[in-house]
Amino acid sequence: MYRVKKEFFSEAKELGIAGCFECGACAYECPAKIPLLDYMKYGKARI
Ligand code: SF4
Repeated sequence: MYRVKKEFFSEAKELGIAGCFECGACAYECPAKIPLLDYMKYGKARI
């Protein structure tokens, strides 16, 4: 999420963002209510 937020898309790719299958568990569990799935989807679209 941090890499996507900072637009470090190549690093996000290296860290395996493409492996996200958009289950939404991270966003569901996040105590800070950060929209993690939205970040994942956006990052995947940008790589
Ligand atoms: S939506 Fe979140 S928990 Fe689910 S695969 Fe993607 S990064 Fe992992």
